[in-house]
This record gives sequence, C-alpha cells and structure tokens, in this order.
Amino acid sequence: MLKIFPHPSASAAPSGGQRRVYWLVRMNRRNRSIFYVLLFLTVASHLWVVGSSFTAWLLLALQFLLYPQLAYGVALRSADQRKAEHRNQLLDGFWAGCWMAGLGFPLWISFAMFAGACLHMVVFYGLRGLPMVVGAMGLGAGLVIASGNWSGVHFETDLRTTLLAMLSLTLFFVTYALDGYRRAMYQHRSEMKLRAQVEEIRTLQARLYEQTMSDPLTGLLNRRHLEKALPSAIEAAQIEGRELALLMVDIDHFKNINDQHGHDVGDEVLKSLASIMKAAARSDELVYRYGGEEFVIVLPDCPADLAARRAEQLRRRFMESPVGFGEASIRATLSCGISLYPEHGAVARELLRSADAALYRAKANGRNRSELFASTPGQFDQQPLDEAAGAAGDRPA
Ligand code: GH3
Ligand code: MG
Ligand code: MG
Repeated sequence: MLKIFPHPSASAAPSGGQRRVYWLVRMNRRNRSIFYVLLFLTVASHLWVVGSSFTAWLLLALQFLLYPQLAYGVALRSADQRKAEHRNQLLDGFWAGCWMAGLGFPLWISFAMFAGACLHMVVFYGLRGLPMVVGAMGLGAGLVIASGNWSGVHFETDLRTTLLAMLSLTLFFVTYALDGYRRAMYQHRSEMKLRAQVEEIRTLQARLYEQTMSDPLTGLLNRRHLEKALPSAIEAAQIEGRELALLMVDIDHFKNINDQHGHDVGDEVLKSLASIMKAAARSDELVYRYGGEEFVIVLPDCPADLAARRAEQLRRRFMESPVGFGEASIRATLSCGISLYPEHGAVARELLRSADAALYRAKANGRNRSELFASTPGQFDQQPLDEAAGAAGDRPA
C-alpha cells in the first residue's frame, strides 16, 4: 500500500482522451532524472580517473541519461502505472547493484547508490521495501561478479568524485525531503479546511435542530421538543423520587381578540404571554408553545401547592400586562390546567391529558383561573381524554 506523497489530483485513470500520469510515475521521473544526471557526473568523473573503454562510456550514457526516460515511458504506457513504477524501482536497485560491482565497489559511489536506492523504496513501500531493493541490488551485483568480467574491488575514489557522490546523495535527499514537506503542508491545510467545514456543518446542524424544535413566532420550544423532553423529565423525576408538575395554559377567548383586533394583534398577545412565561421560568423549567394559543410549562421538582402558586402568579401577571398596539392596548386572560407526576399520570401522554382535562374544567368554571386535575369521578373526568387532548377549539363556552 502506498503511504505518502499522493498528489491530490493524481489518478491513473485516463480522462478526455489524454492519458493521466499516476503521481508516483510523475514524481519518480523527476527524482530519477535529477539523481541519475548527478550520478552520471559522479561515475563519469570516476571513469575519467580510472580510464575506461568506449563501451563503458556508452553504457554510462544509456543508463544514466536515457534509462530514466525509458522507465517513465514504460510506466506511462502500462495498464497499471503503479505496478509498472514499482517494477522500475526494483530495476533501479538492480542497475545500482550492477554498477557498484562493475566499478569494483568504489565506496562513495556505492554508498550514494545504495542509500539512494534504499530511500527510494522505503519511502513508498515501508520497511518491506528494504529487503526487496537490497535483493535487487544483490542480484545485479551477483550477475556482474558471476559474468567473469569482474576486475575485483577498488574502494577508492578521488576527491572530485567523492564530492560529486556526496552532492548527488545530498540533493537526492533534499528533493525527497521537499516532497515530504510539501505533502505535509498540503495535508495540514486540508485538515484545517476540513475542520472548518466540520465546524460549519455542526453549527448548521445545531441551528437546524433549534429551528425544528422551536416556534418561530414566540421563540419558545415547540410540541415536537415536548414529545422528546417530557418522557426524559418524567424519568428523571422517577429516578430522583421527586414530583413534577405540568401546566397547560390557554388564552381565554383568543378567537375574539383575533376577530376584533386582527391577527397581528393576536400574534402580539401570544408573544407577550410567551415572554412573561419565559421570564417567570427557572433555568430547569421548560416552556412550550403547545399549539395555537396553548402553552405548556414543565416544572421539575414541583409539588401541588407550588404548582398552583406558579399557575396563579402567571395568570395574574398576564392579566395585569396589557398588550399595546398603536395607541390602544388590550388585556387578555388565561386559564390553566395543572397535572402532577406521578398522581395524575405515569407517562407523558397521561400527564398531558390530565392537564388538558384540568384546563377544560378551568374553562367550564368561568375561565381566568387555574385548576388542578381532579382524579375523583366528576363531571369533567367523564369527558373522554382523547377528545380533551385534541379539543383546542372546543372549550366550554
Ligand atoms: P377559549 O377561551 O375556549 O380558549 O376560546 P378561544 O377563542 O381562545 O379558543 P379557540 O380555539 O376557539 O380559538 C383559538 C384561536 O387561536 C383560533 C385561531 O385562529 C387562533 N390562532 C391559532 N394560532 C394563531 C396564531 O399563531 N396567531 C394568531 N393571531 N391566532 C392564532
Ligand atoms: Mg383559548
Ligand atoms: Mg385553545
């Protein structure tokens, strides 16, 4: 598996009739060309000093000037450019072995070739590349030694050749290091961009969630949120062994307000009640717009007497807060039904039905009042709870 330096836009797939060059093929062509030119100079310097045949000079030119371009052409035309380039890299090792042995293992030249070939493989194939390339070099060297033309070992190189060998290897390392650095910078920038995008998605998700869970007119949470949150609040109350109160609030004769003053004024009344409820709520209390002009408050850890006090407080505040429009203002009242966990319902649905039944009774008893759910059989308990839950516009006149 290739691990590093994949060029972002690279792919072996042909596109639009033009052949795409696999990133490794492109990169190795450049690196191989540079290194081989430097090695050409290094080996030429050595051959010049030790004196050599025309064949050796010819082989030198073929190997270090022509071969990099041939290797590139073969990889480029291959159906699997990655595999072809892998073969090229092994071949690089093989040729290095041939030249090291052919020259009699001059130390500096051999060192530059050996180190360059090892880096060239390990950087792409990890440690498993090491035995492969060492094997390829061994094979090349072995074949030259076994050929019978071997003239033994000659470790020395003159100063110029030594310096050229050092320069070749150094430039080769620097080229690779530069590629690594560019790749790291590219990855760093991509990562930062990705992080920013993830953050943006998270913010959008949170905003979207907020929108789906809140009422746009009043800014209160909506019924969908209540359906999720109430069971959790009940569970928490059960675990902690505490009571929980649910207030269901409905504006009295709201239809008349709309009819007499217009829908916009009706909206202002709804917003006014919402802000009174929000202002009165403690941090752990949840305030909902349950439907048209119906609201719900969930009061954790709230016994009956406190719930009744809170309902009365709210009722009075709303009654005493006129809603202004233009130069006029109107006063509205509300009715409130109270149910308690666990007495009036063990689950969310039951608790809501009980609060609605209590609200129904508050309406029947004259409006502008609060009622606690009465579980003893009576006039309003006879009302089917399903009907009561959905009867927003069906209050006693
Ligand atoms: P009751 O005292 O029995 O509750 O009578 P009511 O008139 O308040 O109740 P009813 O259910 O007959 O009327 C509720 C009205 O609320 C009807 C509907 O047009 C109005 N309404 C619902 N949503 C909105 C809203 O967002 N804005 C305005 N302005 N009116 C709304
Ligand atoms: Mg109403
Ligand atoms: Mg209503």
